[in-house]
Amino acid sequence: MNASPDRFHDIRDGVRALCAEFPDSYFRKIDEARGYPDAFVDALTRAGWLAALIPLEYGGSGLGLAEASVIMEEINRCGGNSGACHGQMYNMGTLLRHGSEEQKRRYLPGIASGELRLQSMGVTEPTTGTDTTKLKTTAQRKGDRYIVNGQKVWISRVQHSDLMILLARTTSFAEVKRKSDGMSIFIVDLHRAIGHGLTVQPIANIVNHETNELFFDSLEIPAENLIGEEGKGFKYILDGLNAERTLIAAECIGDGYWFIDRAAKYANERIVFDRPIGKNQGVQFPLAEAYIEIEAANLMRFRACELFDARKPCGAEANMAKYLAAKASWEAANACLQTHGGFGFASEYDVERKFRETRLYQVAPISTNLILSYIAEHVLGLPRSF
Ligand SMILES: Cc1cc2nc3c(=O)[nH]c(=O)nc-3n(C[C@H](O)[C@H](O)[C@H](O)COP(=O)(O)OP(=O)(O)OC[C@H]3O[C@@H](n4cnc5c(N)ncnc54)[C@H](O)[C@@H]3O)c2cc1C
Repeated sequence: MNASPDRFHDIRDGVRALCAEFPDSYFRKIDEARGYPDAFVDALTRAGWLAALIPLEYGGSGLGLAEASVIMEEINRCGGNSGACHGQMYNMGTLLRHGSEEQKRRYLPGIASGELRLQSMGVTEPTTGTDTTKLKTTAQRKGDRYIVNGQKVWISRVQHSDLMILLARTTSFAEVKRKSDGMSIFIVDLHRAIGHGLTVQPIANIVNHETNELFFDSLEIPAENLIGEEGKGFKYILDGLNAERTLIAAECIGDGYWFIDRAAKYANERIVFDRPIGKNQGVQFPLAEAYIEIEAANLMRFRACELFDARKPCGAEANMAKYLAAKASWEAANACLQTHGGFGFASEYDVERKFRETRLYQVAPISTNLILSYIAEHVLGLPRSF
C-alpha cells in the first residue's frame, strides 16, 4: 500500500533492508519468549540509525525529527516494534537542546558510536500517574551532589540502557509559584546507580518495553549531571515529550500501513462463497476508512515534525498527531483482525501480536483523554479541569 510520496526514499530503503534481516518469525519468537530484540536493536545501532538526531560534530547523522520519525515508522511498517528502541531518539532531544557543551561532548559521541545507550526516561510515579507536577521523587542538593529519594513506575528499557534521564523535584510543590516550577532533570549513570541507591524491579508486562519499578534510596548524583537550570526541568522535558509523541505517531502510522497491507492481501486471496472476501463492501469499507484515517494522521505527523525541526511551538500538533495516529492504527488493527476471521488469532499471521502492540499507544506515553484535555484547555481556551 502506498503512503503519500515523500522525500525520504533513501532512509526508507535503508531501514527496510535492515529490517528484512529480521523477518516476522524473529519478532514472533521474541513475543513468545516475552524477550527483548537485542540483535535487532544492536543492528540498528551499528548501522547508525539510532544516532539520527545527533549532530555531525558529535558523530551522529545530524538529521531532523522528520527523518527520525521515518526510521521509527519503517520499523513498525516492516512488522517490528520501535518500542524496543525509540527511547534513544526522544531522550536525545533533552540532552541536545538543554545539555551543556561539556555534557554533549561527554555523552553524545559515545551514544552515536553505540558504546553508550540512552534508552530510559524516568518520569511516571505510582501514586501520581498522569498528574506529573505532583511527582514525589526529590533531589536535594548537598555540596557537589544531589541526593535522590522516591519511586518511579513503568520505566522502560533500564536493562538495555547505560544512561537514564530522570525528572525529580528540587523545590517542593508547596514552595513553588507555578506547579510546573521546581522540577529538574538529571542524567543518571545506571551502572553507578544500580545497587548504590537505585533498585530496579522489573514489571511483567507487554513485550518490547521491559518496564520497571525504580526505588531511589539516597542515590547520589554528581551536580554536574543536572541538565540546564535547576527548577526548569519540566519545561525542558516537554520538548522531549513533543518529540516522543510525534515519533510514536509515526510508529502508529507504520503499524497502520502494515495492518492495511496485510488485510488487503488476505482479502484478495481468501475465497469464501466462491469469491474473494475483498469483493464484499462489508470487508472493503472498514479497510478503506482506516486507510483514509492513517493518511490524514500522517499529514499531522509531518506538520508536527516541521514545527519541531524549525524549533517552533508544536505541543498541539504533536499531541494531535499522536491522537490521530494511535486511533487510526487501532482502527486499522481491528479491521485487519476482522478481515482475517479466525486466522487473525493465529500467531503465525502476526496480526494478534501487532494488534496488542499498537493498542498501547492510546494509553502511553500519554493517554487519549489527556490529549483531549490539552487541546480543550490550551487550544480552545476552555477552563482547566484539573
Ligand atoms: C508499556 C509502558 C511503557 C511505559 N514507559 C514509560 C517510561 O519509559 N517512562 C515513564 O516515565 N513512563 C512510562 N510509562 C508510563 C505511561 O506514560 C503512563 O502509564 C501513562 O502516562 C498513564 O499514566 P498512568 O498509567 O499512571 O494512568 P493514570 O494517570 O492513573 O490514568 C488512568 C486512566 O485515567 C484517565 N485519567 C486520569 N486523569 C484524568 C483526567 N483528569 N481526565 C480524564 N481522564 C483521566 C487516563 O486518561 C487513563 O486512561 C509507560 C507505560 C507503559 C504501559
